[in-house]
Amino acid sequence: LQPELVGDFGTLMEWADGSRRMKVRANAETPLDAQTARDFGAEGIGLCRTEHMFFDASRITAVRQMILAEDERGRRAALDKLLPEQRKDFIGIFEVMAGLPVTIRLLDPPLHEFLPTQEADFAEVAEAAGVGIETLKQRASELHEFNPMLGHRGCRLGVTYPEIYEMQARAIFEAACALPTAPVPEIMIPLVGTRRELELMKEVVEKAAEAVFAEQGKRIDYLVGTMIELPRAALMADEIAEVGAFFSFGTNDLTQTTLGVSRDDAARFLIHYVDKGIYATDPFVSLDVEGVGQLIEIAATKGRKTRPDIKLGICGEHGGDPASIAFCEQTGLDYVSASPYRVPIARLAAAQAALRNR
Ligand code: PEP
Ligand code: MG
Repeated sequence: LQPELVGDFGTLMEWADGSRRMKVRANAETPLDAQTARDFGAEGIGLCRTEHMFFDASRITAVRQMILAEDERGRRAALDKLLPEQRKDFIGIFEVMAGLPVTIRLLDPPLHEFLPTQEADFAEVAEAAGVGIETLKQRASELHEFNPMLGHRGCRLGVTYPEIYEMQARAIFEAACALPTAPVPEIMIPLVGTRRELELMKEVVEKAAEAVFAEQGKRIDYLVGTMIELPRAALMADEIAEVGAFFSFGTNDLTQTTLGVSRDDAARFLIHYVDKGIYATDPFVSLDVEGVGQLIEIAATKGRKTRPDIKLGICGEHGGDPASIAFCEQTGLDYVSASPYRVPIARLAAAQAALRNR
């Protein structure tokens, strides 16, 4: 344990932990971040954003090959290269978290972040895929989107290219089966808006699970659930809970889609909105309890009605913000998930909120 985490600080945190009801997890996608999170007292991973793994310099060419492939066969050729890397990613994280819950979110990139722009990058993909540069450029222009954040991302990618999610699920199960103490992976589907989307993606995950269990001659427990980050998902939470075993509120996107304000561009004008009292605080920092909060309450109530034991958490940036954590306590969420360095703050805020609610 790091020196600053013991002594008086450690005692204070122990008191806090004795008072809180909600669990505190962390958002982490590398073994190093996971270790930092554990050192700060995280009780699991609430969000492992797998797209960050895809940006790794050593595999970006294979990722681009996958995205630019014209057919399933081309995508599978690239996915075969990525599978061993993904397996290693998950083994690393599961080892650090040793039996604690780990929520892995399947790929959710805005597609444009993967598209090559430089001539040299196209050349690398062309060589790897055995396809001409002009064909790749044509394909890249077909994939261009005017509104990538409302475009072909999240589970929409999994719906059109199920083999990508299949590879990721296979990597998760192969990793879990390879370890002596198998974790209970919580596989999370992003940007779901309808029950059917989740159903289709769950089928892909289950098929991969059964294939790996048959090969390995062993089974492990796992959950499939969804992010709630679209207003429609919150409103349809009763139907969605028929399929998903857990909900994690993605309040970054839920704020963006509820307010109709771009999370990437808001900084330019939000300050005036706060100055003029239109918003009490920056809604991307502290939860807009009146608007977004209502959707969370609706989703929690409807989700529990269908599935009384549904696991509820939050993994947007708000999961590390004390005022938002107080709201999560009142709504009865099971856990908050914050970036590793905000875990101690989250532990304290969760304790304060629980004491205030007594
Ligand atoms: C969210 O939308 O709140 C979320 C946690 O996912 P991301 O920030 O990766 O979109
Ligand atoms: Mg999101």
